[in-house]
Amino acid sequence: MPRANEISSEMLRFSTKQEYDDLVSSQTRLFESRWLWGHHLSAALVHPGAFDGWCGACAQPARFFFESREDGTIDLREQMVCEHCGLNARHRVSLGLLAELCSDSETARIYATEQASPAFRWLRGRFPESIGSEFFTEAQGQLLTEYLQALLGEEARLNREDATDLSFDDESFDAVISSDVLEHIPDYRAALENFFRVLAPGGDLVLTVPFLDASQESLRRAEIDADGEIRHLVEPEYHGDPVSPEGVLAFHSFGWDLLDTLRACGFESAQWCLPWQPSQAIFSGLWTVHAHKSAGDPPHKTESKES
Ligand SMILES: [Zn+2]
Repeated sequence: MPRANEISSEMLRFSTKQEYDDLVSSQTRLFESRWLWGHHLSAALVHPGAFDGWCGACAQPARFFFESREDGTIDLREQMVCEHCGLNARHRVSLGLLAELCSDSETARIYATEQASPAFRWLRGRFPESIGSEFFTEAQGQLLTEYLQALLGEEARLNREDATDLSFDDESFDAVISSDVLEHIPDYRAALENFFRVLAPGGDLVLTVPFLDASQESLRRAEIDADGEIRHLVEPEYHGDPVSPEGVLAFHSFGWDLLDTLRACGFESAQWCLPWQPSQAIFSGLWTVHAHKSAGDPPHKTESKES
């Protein structure tokens, strides 16, 4: 990724909560000042506006647009949308990490659990061998297709995939990227097992999910009962979705134990990554997961496909 104009850019990596806690306690003032930067920025920018900086995703100076929430604060993760590439801060972080991992952009085979989005448009532009998909009802398919074709052209065809039962062959991809999807999948472990299965040895998984960074344990927010009905275990949380006005229910809020689950699924390493790139409008709290599949792993380590 481009490094021009970058000041004090970094990506901290943690394999356990203990590692994170140790760093925070040894550098409390640093973490406090970063949190305050975001907090004050958020409070100061009470009207729609723009933050001038550098976009690492499209490698040029850029204005990052934002609008405040109902409470007047700015969501520094979902906002800060680049005027050129249309990527928000969360997508710029995860796609930037992916681009660092996949240096051969012409041949890298990448699967994304999204397709009708500016993020996938960026991915296809950088990595021509990328495949994206959406998970949708019949009623949503038409809307998604129209949006996809507006982004990528009339010839674009919408792919439907269930992340817990991917149709791809084993070891089909060099990387998988999934951005704020996992929390909406009741059996998220089945999705992780599928990601592992379709990754080639030496492949990488990049994930973003809502993260409770103070919590070791993930929180199960809702589940599907024996009758197929949704049972809420805590206050329901719905996330924005262009094709369902009511939003999409989050079944999980993840804690540090997501890393343990990834390692149990077969990944050789799994880390929560924390970037800090203020000149790119990437402030504190933009946690992203990176999991790596060993280059020496025997095939079929995880058999998640039903025969
Ligand atoms: Zn950009």
